[in-house]
Amino acid sequence: MREKVILVCTECLSRNYSVYKNKRTNVERLELKKYCKRCGKHTLHRESK
Ligand SMILES: [Zn+2]
Repeated sequence: MREKVILVCTECLSRNYSVYKNKRTNVERLELKKYCKRCGKHTLHRESK
């Protein structure tokens, strides 16, 4: 039921975080504001495969 997904910075495309998402409650693509080391700021991170 729980699936591991990688969160990718939408600005520089680096893979910064991995999270577990619950497929039942979270059917949409994850989009989170997270700190990106490469960008040096908070950017939008999106789920990747
Ligand atoms: Zn970035």
